[in-house]
Amino acid sequence: MALIVQKYGGSSVADAESIKRVAKRIVDTRRAGHDVVVAVSAMGDTTDELLELAGEVAPIPAPRELDMLLSSGERISMALLAMAIHSMGFEARSFTGSQAGMITDAKHGSARIVDVTPVRLREALDEGAIVIVAGFQGFNRDTRDITTLGRGGSDTTAVALAAALDADVCEIYSDVDGIYTADPRIIPRARKLDTVSSEEMLELAANGAKVLYIRAVEFARRHGVLIHSRSTFSSAEGTYVLGEGMKNPRESEGAAAMEEPVVAGVATDLTQAKITVAGVPDVPGKAAEIFTVVAKSGANVDMIVQNVSAASTGRTDISFTLPKADAPTALKALAAEQQEIGFENLLHDDQIGKLSVVGAGMRTHSGVSATLFEALRDAGINIEMISTSEIRISVVLRGSDVVDAARAVHTAYGLDSEIEAIVHAGTGR
Ligand code: ADP
Ligand code: ASP
Ligand code: MG
Repeated sequence: MALIVQKYGGSSVADAESIKRVAKRIVDTRRAGHDVVVAVSAMGDTTDELLELAGEVAPIPAPRELDMLLSSGERISMALLAMAIHSMGFEARSFTGSQAGMITDAKHGSARIVDVTPVRLREALDEGAIVIVAGFQGFNRDTRDITTLGRGGSDTTAVALAAALDADVCEIYSDVDGIYTADPRIIPRARKLDTVSSEEMLELAANGAKVLYIRAVEFARRHGVLIHSRSTFSSAEGTYVLGEGMKNPRESEGAAAMEEPVVAGVATDLTQAKITVAGVPDVPGKAAEIFTVVAKSGANVDMIVQNVSAASTGRTDISFTLPKADAPTALKALAAEQQEIGFENLLHDDQIGKLSVVGAGMRTHSGVSATLFEALRDAGINIEMISTSEIRISVVLRGSDVVDAARAVHTAYGLDSEIEAIVHAGTGR
């Protein structure tokens, strides 16, 4: 008998029928003799709809109240799921994040889990019940307020529960069969991976692959949780995310441990914007001034490029990317310091897209970036910025070029599959 944590995303519980389907899967796992703890997301696009509603009553909703509102989405799905399980003759109990002992810091909208005290969950398990926990939410002990973990945060809830309860596996159920070499909604010829290393998954998630939430992957890596990403809509095995020293559970079934491919996957991101600070005096300390102002505005800077300064002017341009949602505040903060920093003007571009190629094999293989640049050249696509890490190359392009670029690059690295990937449900929102 194992302890299995299962997480069902919004597209898996979008309506009553889907909730019943998920209930059946949970009951089947229980019937097989396992203890089951479930983390569930809000139904379908509920969280987006609640956010829109909040925006209609207040231009900038109070963060505390927004968390109260958004956390209600998961409360609906957890209760319905428990009811559906009851009607199949099994005992199930639902818990909010705070009842489940999901203790976070006080940062509304992107709270971090600081402790998990699953006393009530253990009690319920000991009494033979299936446990259902509302994903994406927690509780802060100092403020005694409800918090949420950030978009996609139910994945983190599941992994944190798996770590706290010492589960055998954390199964993340979604509307695709696992982790693919690219988003199958964009690249139908994307190929499902049997395994992916957690360091590669971190890079993919950080660069737009929302199939797993980056913080959940980080948490799993730190606490040695085995993640199995799979589909609610089929019983096929999905993809295992393997942390350092973790064994591929399939190797015991005869799957050969093959040499890793150089490139694990391609990720795209259309959620970033670019700000250019033009005409910055080319003297020491200006970059520090600019990025201190940007950091204070709360923006999360990604790529940075500084142009060579024109000798005649002694001035240079500095461009950086950041989440679109952070751009207005960062622009305002920079504009307020224009005199002080001494730059000429600010440019804002929210029509960019980012394409990233990720693979641990890049450490040992040369020519990986040449393949990328050649594929983009052959597709006639212009590169605006480039950045690299040990196992990733990212380029900023026009947003409208990203899909074509991703397809060309996917083909160029030999990742295309013979068969088309299936996306079972969801709106891709
Ligand atoms: P859930 O609502 O279950 O949390 P998400 O919408 O957050 O599901 O994540 C699943 C989606 O992630 C898929 O429908 C797919 O469009 C997208 N996705 C992006 N990159 C990948 C990838 N490399 N492999 C699989 N899915 C991906
Ligand atoms: N419901 C939340 C969201 O849509 C959390 C999640 O689904 O993971 O972001
Ligand atoms: Mg998700």
